[in-house]
Amino acid sequence: MTPRSGDPLVERMRPYTSSIFAEMSARAVATGAINLGQGFPDTDGPAEVIEAAVDALRAGHNQYPPGAGIPELRAAVADHQRRHYGMDLDPADEVLITMGASEAIASAVLAMCGPGDEVLTFEPWFDLYAAAITLSGATRRCVPLRQPDWSFDPEELRRAVTPATRLLLLNSPHNPTGKVFRADELAMIAELCVERDLIAVTDEVYEHLTFDGRAHLPLATFPGMADRTLTVSSAGKTFSVTGWKVGWASGPVPLVRATRTVKQNLSYSGGTPFQHAVAAALALPDAVTAGLRESLQSKRDRLCAGLRSAGFQVIEPEGTYFVTVDVRSVGQDDGMQFCRDLPERAGVVAIPDSVFYDDAGAGRSLVRFACCKRDDVIDDAMGRLARAFPT
Ligand code: GLN
Repeated sequence: MTPRSGDPLVERMRPYTSSIFAEMSARAVATGAINLGQGFPDTDGPAEVIEAAVDALRAGHNQYPPGAGIPELRAAVADHQRRHYGMDLDPADEVLITMGASEAIASAVLAMCGPGDEVLTFEPWFDLYAAAITLSGATRRCVPLRQPDWSFDPEELRRAVTPATRLLLLNSPHNPTGKVFRADELAMIAELCVERDLIAVTDEVYEHLTFDGRAHLPLATFPGMADRTLTVSSAGKTFSVTGWKVGWASGPVPLVRATRTVKQNLSYSGGTPFQHAVAAALALPDAVTAGLRESLQSKRDRLCAGLRSAGFQVIEPEGTYFVTVDVRSVGQDDGMQFCRDLPERAGVVAIPDSVFYDDAGAGRSLVRFACCKRDDVIDDAMGRLARAFPT
């Protein structure tokens, strides 16, 4: 019996009771449909990374790690940021290891925002951002990314900053659109952050998964941003180990310290053997991540081609695990309904983009498919779609 009548869940979290990823993955299991919904690879990461985790388990790395993460991993993250982006970080107090990027982002928002504050982000947004902002008591304010290139109106962004804006949350490469923010866009965002004295928190978990030679540029490397940006990333996407949940946040001491204060009162710490394995993964030659990136790019091409030949209008991504289609091209207009019907109709699962929008109309006809799957799985799914939507 519940101790009080009614729903014990606090009112502000009631809009977040269901996760579209859990719902759609459960539908895939229940119907036997191919799961192109939740973004996780269906093959393991590099063998040496898996072996490093096994070695760490056998070597007795099984007790609590330090709250900020094992020194080897903090050093590996600092080294990674220097090698790839020329950033200079002290692993002692400018790097924090977290339970995935999710915990880093939630901890940062909870640490630095509260009632009366506004958090600025782009729409569509990854679902966790909305929940973290709500949990903190702050309000989210969104600036739309518009098709076909997911550009934003700089004036609209400027106008969205109010005296209450405390933090800008940027995701690049961007889930669900696959947009990789360009240098000129990032420079404009950086200028605005400096001018209006905003903190930036960046979700860069797809940093190594950019296509067609596009460079990922951390916002923290733009003028004036190193002192006001908390850069967040993780091992999950880069090394195809999404279930390991080893993430990190780096940046100036005050931002890292604030984030650590919340983080140590949530999970405190965890995943010791995986932290050792990720330290080893980050030390691998860059050819390993380049190989994973190339493989994903060919999967992106395969999925885009398959979707096009099944009659879908495809919005090609510049990075990430995801390809977006507009279902109006197959005579439908409601992506949510399309995704609810798809397992039975075609034996495939996808994610409706409308769950990533406040403005329900804006993403209504968009649907996201994950391309991080084996080639034969993509081919099978595309064959099913082509049969279900004869042109
Ligand atoms: N990042 C993954 C996606 O967008 C899912 C993460 C989750 O299940 N919350 O598909």
